Amino acid sequence: MDASGTFDLSEVIRDAMVQLPTEMCFFCKRVFAFGGDQSDGEYLQQLNLGICRWCRSSNEGGLNPHYEKRLLPYLWAKKLPIPSRNEKGFLVLPTE
Ligand SMILES: [Zn+2]
Repeated sequence: MDASGTFDLSEVIRDAMVQLPTEMCFFCKRVFAFGGDQSDGEYLQQLNLGICRWCRSSNEGGLNPHYEKRLLPYLWAKKLPIPSRNEKGFLVLPTE
């Protein structure tokens, strides 16, 4: 409610966004709850991208080559560091 007595909907929407922060998974494009006690994923500062917990758990043994194909051009374009590889040759995603 502003001084003129009208209801500013954009303010309400903004407040709702603050209460329910979300992040989009870089890999599957799923939008997940992020922040607070119930994060369904994480934000990898090093790579400047979000990853949902489903993608994280399905890539525990190293990044699926199918995902890697999507990730590398992005990292190159952004001049971000390429993660190291594990003994199987898969990229290991940082934990933050
Ligand atoms: Zn995902």
